[in-house]
Amino acid sequence: MSKTYNALEQAQAQFDQAAEKIELDEATRQLLRQPMREYHFSIPVHMDDGSVKIFRGYRVQHNDARGPAKGGIRFHPLETVDTIRALAMWMTWKCAVVDIPLGGGKGGIICDPHDMSDREQEQLCRGWVRQIARNVGPCIDVPAPDVMTNAKHMLWMLDEYETIHGGRYPGFITGKPVGMGGSLGRTEATGFGVIYVLREALKELNMRIENTTASIQGFGNVAQHAAKLYQSLGGKVTAISCWDNTEKTAYTFRKKDGLDYNALVSITDSFGRIDKEKAIGLGYEVLPGDAWIEQDVDVLIPAALENQISGDNVHKISKQVKIVAEGANGPTSTDADKVLAQRGIFVIPDFLANAGGVTCSYFEQVQSNTNHYWEKDEVIQKLDARMTAAFKAVVDLAKDKKLHMREAAYIIAINRVVRAVKSRGWV
Ligand code: GLU
Repeated sequence: MSKTYNALEQAQAQFDQAAEKIELDEATRQLLRQPMREYHFSIPVHMDDGSVKIFRGYRVQHNDARGPAKGGIRFHPLETVDTIRALAMWMTWKCAVVDIPLGGGKGGIICDPHDMSDREQEQLCRGWVRQIARNVGPCIDVPAPDVMTNAKHMLWMLDEYETIHGGRYPGFITGKPVGMGGSLGRTEATGFGVIYVLREALKELNMRIENTTASIQGFGNVAQHAAKLYQSLGGKVTAISCWDNTEKTAYTFRKKDGLDYNALVSITDSFGRIDKEKAIGLGYEVLPGDAWIEQDVDVLIPAALENQISGDNVHKISKQVKIVAEGANGPTSTDADKVLAQRGIFVIPDFLANAGGVTCSYFEQVQSNTNHYWEKDEVIQKLDARMTAAFKAVVDLAKDKKLHMREAAYIIAINRVVRAVKSRGWV
């Protein structure tokens, strides 16, 4: 059994390793291996049954030397402050690796939206903003959607922020609904970004996407759009696993000749839960939740939560697997990462692979702040160009210095942040 997982320890271990490689001085290491600032608070919500429930909310700003902090807000019953700290840190590297002028932040609320009405969720969103309204904003820290939050939540949060500050500040938050300050393409952006870098990785390995198969963990926003674009480029998704909240377990749905994307989405709820009975009716085999990892496919895309490829299951990965494209944040534990490296599996690290979301958030901010909105084609084209350029820079460094992709991505990102903190005179 591997020891209890802690996302912050993982993020710090990755950072320490890269800091060692670039011989980073001690003060800068200390500055960057922990968050600059964090806020912890209580959010009282009047529930539909007349009771009052107190939720815990957080915002962590890891580093804002390159620009306002940026990052999502997660709703999860098992959320911990260390996970949010790790995710905030990964956001700093993510914005730096795609070279957008933003820092890293992350927020969260310990809650389970499965069990909450829309009215209760609205109160929770407004309550979160009320506690933090003075420490976030278009020039300070710009939130966005993440696990179990979406455009609806962002608009409630924006409305509360604007009520408090008495004006219209659409640049306060991203991932808003289209027509209400949102950007076309933002919903698709994270999943599409995963596939743009996967496409480039396949070129590196001289593989044709049309001849490849993939197994995906998760069927939420990231996984759905990744599956959609991958299949439209000719790849075949043969297995998808997702969490079934009614049965409190995960299942893997397999169709060896490739899933029918539209049909599968039509039987999936807003949390990414595929209806098991209907899937059986559509000809899917239903396997245990972790079966996604042991499929004979070319590509694995973990696109759910952190710590899903660990020392406990990494040995189950099939010999056929050539690439792991990390759609989720922190899906691979440090010990599993070593095994993937030994086996020569090409890993597209999380903060590069899933940077499409925040890249499009940056485009959304630009559009919101200038009050001028772009055509979808323009957004998608710019997104592809940014992701492709970031991938190329990382792969070039990896080849040049004989590094793994994760190390190369860290070195590029950390160096950019180091330049910012040093030229500002912080260290
Ligand atoms: N929550 C997403 C992420 O982890 C997007 C963040 C953003 O758009 O600011 O990258």
